[in-house]
Amino acid sequence: MQEMTKMEKIVGLCKRRGFVYQGSEIYGGLAGTWDYGPLGVALKNNIKKLWWERFVLGREDVYGLDAAIIMNPAAWVASGHAQGFADPAVQCKKCGAYWRTDHVIASQLVEEGNYLCPLGSCRTALGTEEELNKQSKSFNMMFTTSVGAGEESAIKTYLRPETAGGIFVNYKNVLDSMHPKLPFGIAQIGKAFRNEIAPRDFLFRAREFEQMEIEYFINPKTWETTFEEWREEMHGWIKAIGLPVSMVHELEVPKEDLAHYSRRTIDFEFDYPFGRSELYGMAYRTDFDLASHAQASGVDLTYFDEATGERFLPHVIEPSLGVDRTALALLCASYTEDSMNEDSRVFLKLSPRLAPVTVAVFPLLRNKTELVARAREIYALLRQAQVGAVVFDDNGNVGKRYRRQDEIGTPWCVTVDFDTLGEKPEARDTVTLRDRDTGKQERVNINELTDILESKLV
Ligand code: ATP
Repeated sequence: MQEMTKMEKIVGLCKRRGFVYQGSEIYGGLAGTWDYGPLGVALKNNIKKLWWERFVLGREDVYGLDAAIIMNPAAWVASGHAQGFADPAVQCKKCGAYWRTDHVIASQLVEEGNYLCPLGSCRTALGTEEELNKQSKSFNMMFTTSVGAGEESAIKTYLRPETAGGIFVNYKNVLDSMHPKLPFGIAQIGKAFRNEIAPRDFLFRAREFEQMEIEYFINPKTWETTFEEWREEMHGWIKAIGLPVSMVHELEVPKEDLAHYSRRTIDFEFDYPFGRSELYGMAYRTDFDLASHAQASGVDLTYFDEATGERFLPHVIEPSLGVDRTALALLCASYTEDSMNEDSRVFLKLSPRLAPVTVAVFPLLRNKTELVARAREIYALLRQAQVGAVVFDDNGNVGKRYRRQDEIGTPWCVTVDFDTLGEKPEARDTVTLRDRDTGKQERVNINELTDILESKLV
């Protein structure tokens, strides 16, 4: 049997252990959609919580927002998305699949000067680069929908392709209600939708995904220094979530590839098992959005600087982060195979603040009521102490429970045994605390357990 690739193993683990399922699976799925199970939603929520704590609660100059996904279509005309949010695509005449032309070229699957269909089971010649560019048709990736009853009166609009749109149309609201001084940011976490030509690579390219975006409004004179500051912030975040620095690389996006609104973009790429690809983007959007919305809506969106007496349209630096690509990068970076006690094991080396389960509590044996009762007490104690997510597990033997918790990335397991109950008087009221990465167990006093866990969580 062919050995499974790392990606296949990660996808398998995600499904088996309740991280990620195929969207609408019982109906055969829907390409480009994924459903997060109990552990996946916990991981995603931890990512979003950490981001919000760091960039909204942790700063004086960033305000939170939760704007509607469905917006007045005029906003998407003004932003240029209704006309220009498109990718060139080619269709393979043999298998019928559509591909993004730039992805076909980047795949470098060439035979006798012809690029091949990227589908592994097809590989039909699609043509030379020149022919591909000629055949390409522009494909708008916005999902359309209609608002209101009745075919004639319903308005055709879009599901937002990026959360940024909701921020720009609320810029003046936030300015008027919070009176911030420049520079300041508006942050939002939410769903975005793109009818991707070829969704692929698990969570990497989905049609429905989540973004964490900040539009940081500045005086245009300072754009270069602010760009550098946010670049550092991006690296700080990447480090804080525990992605290895060596797996993240900056890519200066060439002028000809910049999005229609950007004057400068840096992509932060990650070494996924399927190759190096974008994790996050950071763009200098100039005043493109505010100028377009001001013109289209007729609302004055200028900012008055009391200190200098200047009136101008602020410019924008935008750090844009995908929640799903963060989850995927974390799963890929943390997936580890090793052997422990002569047994092979798989574990996720997730940062304790991101792991779906923080502590698992076990009674050594499930059929000894005293052990179970004591373990239940400790479980309740830890839950009350709010040391993250705590689970109780008495299924199978302790070795199997450790393996199960390792596989989902639980950093610590607490086991209640006969010594806890006083079989060895000197060990009464102590438990074992086991570390996921080393497998080492230490005996700790129950009274000190929450303090120890809290100190490890910092
Ligand atoms: P790509 O070049 O990979 O299509 P992009 O440059 O179009 O991505 P942006 O418009 O910069 O992406 O979106 C900001 C962030 O949103 C990306 O860095 C990524 O984290 C996330 N993202 C974008 N498209 C998708 C998608 N189809 N599936 C999952 N996440 C996405």
